[in-house]
Amino acid sequence: MKVDITDLLLTEDKVVEQEVKTELTSFQSKLGEFPITKKAPFILHLENQEKKFLAVSGETDVVIAIPCDRCLEEVSVPLHLVIDKRFSLQEETAEEEADAEDMDYMKESALDVDRLIYDEILVNWPMKVLCRDDCKGICRKCGTNLNHGTCSCDQTEPDPRMAAIRDVFNQFKEV
Ligand SMILES: [Zn+2]
Ligand SMILES: [Zn+2]
Repeated sequence: MKVDITDLLLTEDKVVEQEVKTELTSFQSKLGEFPITKKAPFILHLENQEKKFLAVSGETDVVIAIPCDRCLEEVSVPLHLVIDKRFSLQEETAEEEADAEDMDYMKESALDVDRLIYDEILVNWPMKVLCRDDCKGICRKCGTNLNHGTCSCDQTEPDPRMAAIRDVFNQFKEV
């Protein structure tokens, strides 16, 4: 969704509270595409600060479906997004430049709400997603989801990564 901010940009110290929503239905990144399964309209606070800056703030919640790191089953991950940005409205001095963000969010006096939401999802992206803390993952040999059942594969064969770690330990012992 784009918010028309023509008036706001022209009027010093004008404040606008507007209900907005994102039109994003999924979050796409280098990692893949993840459906946004829950979102809601929220209030965006917009403020023209002395015609020098446009302050944009608001909070909203979204839920994104992300596969579990171990078993790949989709997990509903709630994210609380806090938007708090300040854009420069003038030719910036070097000093101000460090403080204000770029103008990419605004095109032809319209503020791009989807871009704001996208960037907040990006910075809030979870480091680790597990369907549950003790997710057993999938069998590397037959692909059975070990949370739902067992398989008859021999699980005692050492993981090559573990073998590598053991080698490192052995080296330490020898020193
Ligand atoms: Zn899992
Ligand atoms: Zn198996």
